Amino acid sequence: MTGLLLVALLQAVGPSGRPADYLGFEPGADSLLADWKQVSGYLNGLAQRSPYVRADTLGRTTEGRPFLLLTITSPANQARLAAIKRGQAQLADPRLLTEATLAELRTTQPAVILISNNIHSTEVASSQMGMTLAYRLATDPTLSRLLDSVVVLMIPSMNPDGLDTVVSWYRRHKGTRYEGGPLPWLYHKYVGHDNNRDWFMVTQAETRLVTRMLYTEWFPEIVYDVHQMGASGVRLFVPPFIDPVNPNLDPALVAAMNLVGTAMASALYDAGLTGVAHQERYDLWWHGGFRSTPTRHNMVGILSEAASTRLGSPITIAPDSVRQPARGVNYPAPWPGGTWRLGDIVRYELVASEALVRLAARDRVTLIDRFVGLGRRAIEAGLAGNPFAYLLPPPPEQRDPEAWTGLANVLIAGGVEVWRAAAPLTADGRTYPAGTLVVPMGQPFRAHAKDLLEPQRYTPVADRPPYDVAGWTLPFTMGVRADVVNTPFTANLVRADSIVPAPGRIEGSGEMFILRNRTNAESRAVVELLAAGQSVTLAGDSLIVRGPRARSILAERAARHGFGVTATRAAAVRGSTRQRLPRIALYQPWTASIDEGWTRWLFEQYGITHTTLHDSDLKKGGLRQRFDVIVLPDAETAALVRGVDSSRIPLQYAGGMGDVGAAAISEFVRGGGTLVCLDGSSNFAISRLNLPVVNVLAGEASGPQVSRFYAPGSIFGVILGGGGGPRSPVTLGLPESLQVYFDNSAAFTVSGPARALATYPAEPLRSGYARFQERLEGKAALVEAPVGSGRVILFGFRPQFRGQTHGTFKLLFNAVLLAAP
Ligand SMILES: [Zn+2]
Repeated sequence: MTGLLLVALLQAVGPSGRPADYLGFEPGADSLLADWKQVSGYLNGLAQRSPYVRADTLGRTTEGRPFLLLTITSPANQARLAAIKRGQAQLADPRLLTEATLAELRTTQPAVILISNNIHSTEVASSQMGMTLAYRLATDPTLSRLLDSVVVLMIPSMNPDGLDTVVSWYRRHKGTRYEGGPLPWLYHKYVGHDNNRDWFMVTQAETRLVTRMLYTEWFPEIVYDVHQMGASGVRLFVPPFIDPVNPNLDPALVAAMNLVGTAMASALYDAGLTGVAHQERYDLWWHGGFRSTPTRHNMVGILSEAASTRLGSPITIAPDSVRQPARGVNYPAPWPGGTWRLGDIVRYELVASEALVRLAARDRVTLIDRFVGLGRRAIEAGLAGNPFAYLLPPPPEQRDPEAWTGLANVLIAGGVEVWRAAAPLTADGRTYPAGTLVVPMGQPFRAHAKDLLEPQRYTPVADRPPYDVAGWTLPFTMGVRADVVNTPFTANLVRADSIVPAPGRIEGSGEMFILRNRTNAESRAVVELLAAGQSVTLAGDSLIVRGPRARSILAERAARHGFGVTATRAAAVRGSTRQRLPRIALYQPWTASIDEGWTRWLFEQYGITHTTLHDSDLKKGGLRQRFDVIVLPDAETAALVRGVDSSRIPLQYAGGMGDVGAAAISEFVRGGGTLVCLDGSSNFAISRLNLPVVNVLAGEASGPQVSRFYAPGSIFGVILGGGGGPRSPVTLGLPESLQVYFDNSAAFTVSGPARALATYPAEPLRSGYARFQERLEGKAALVEAPVGSGRVILFGFRPQFRGQTHGTFKLLFNAVLLAAP
């Protein structure tokens, strides 16, 4: 390094290298928040001057910022990171280990832990804390001497885009009543808070970067995800979690989570801190969060949840206003109340993080042995059968080839081995063709695969609702056939790295094309056809496509996405024809609607161009002149009509669409528009448009009270049709029965002229939990209601839930592309 460069670096990080010298303030100081440029600038500088710290850019965020991973360990370990990663891969998959290799790794291999900060952007303290943690690990001898035994991976922000969104809001509104939020928009471009609901589906850029690092590169033994919660309760939650425990979690893993949490608590008490609680509302049931997905990979996955401040600003809570349990074994030192600062959260999180580093150094060999033991037990359990494997036969057994490959690719992204049958095979007495995808359970990450492929049977404990959703079975949500095989079998299998559908093609000759509309990719093709001005006719159970560019568009799409097209000679066709893309609008309330974000994301994935509508656009009226279809995301009626009160958010974002906006929507429908209401917003349409529809669950679904219907995120079967009359375009191409995602959703009774397009059968629960599911029998899940010369389509479920429900995307696509005559 040249002298000039060294001088430049020293100036960049400051003479001592402390965060305060770089930032001009101590991380956690009142009212001062470092943004991503500052956080990443400091950490990159530290990496350049400290032999203990390495900074890597894993890739780009959704909005294009660099996504950083810090590797903090001794200089000797830094010099052999490739070998350490190889060692972790061997420990993660004990089939790769000889006894000699294991003996050597027990001597030489450091423990590997991951600390992930700031996944939720308003939970901002950990983004600041990480700078101090990295500095202390690199410079405090009591910590740095542990780093021969530990590799500390740290992600300084799991969502750098969101950190900047929140810091810029805070700086703009500091000193006003709006400084602590809420923000009127999402802090992740598409999914907001649901960036911590994406850890098995892996739909977003940040999730993909971290998932690849975790399950193909680093395989840490412990993952610690640092969160904040509401302001008024206990000061910090650390494990033990609460019941129920997911059946796929090994008991040694549960005990290890308890151990790590209590080690953190001990360190916090040793430091004289109070208000640390175990067994708060976070359970061990749910899959899909950043602390829960690693536990399906034999990693000790934990989180902490600190009480929040108003972003950078302190709060004061009177002692008798603190909502905390009485002193007890889970809460031996209640918090006395008073002022709570950003710096307090930073301090608690720092103590907890350093306790984790100490535990990992002390228990290094135990962590290695346990990691190997968990992997071995998973493999043995799988090889013993019950279940032995899941089999996903190829099309035509699968309705949508892309959903089939998509499910397999989700598993592969999560580190699961998927194999392809090179020859026909027989399993549990059934014959499967070559090309069948096989997910054997005899593999180290069995729990992840099994938990995603099997139905969930949630059992509430003490009448509590699950922390998040109750069920997530991917074959159901994605509409993919996956057969469980219980008895061991042998077959000729080839490992699959990534799977694409076999190319589809145009069969027959002629310039008129028939689409069966059974796959999501056909909706994508319809969008492209209409955008190019080709004609699409709804005729019976098919779509008839004509036009000079139809053949080339369909040939290309069919080849890429694996669906088939039939060509025929031109003939007269009866049915309604369209020749341009409907003008679609998606309402975006100023309530930071996550469902709006997922809908927008899905539309972008499928090329569905649309306009975003805000309250002011609605209030202007004249909507029918501008749009054919308006989509309302899932929302309560009050949130739509009244929005957020101006005491909580600046005036330009306050007040919702109001009665004026609601009247404009009504006028739009009566004038021939199509209104698509997702789940909760159905209640708005029912009341504002006087629909002959009743949501029989209105007001019932708020909690698992003994006498009431209750179903948190769960999967139900529905039967299509049954409403009489011709089949609706909304259900065109869908199977007679399918599974829908229900999350404290709606269920309808209808009278003419409204009609049910999908109805719940007896005992509809397929995965998750429902109390009094018989209440759903015969009720409508999907309704079409004519109003004036327009129509309303009511979804009583979540057709695009978290980007997971490929099996019902098409209902939404049909509703926006085909429902209008
Ligand atoms: Zn959080």
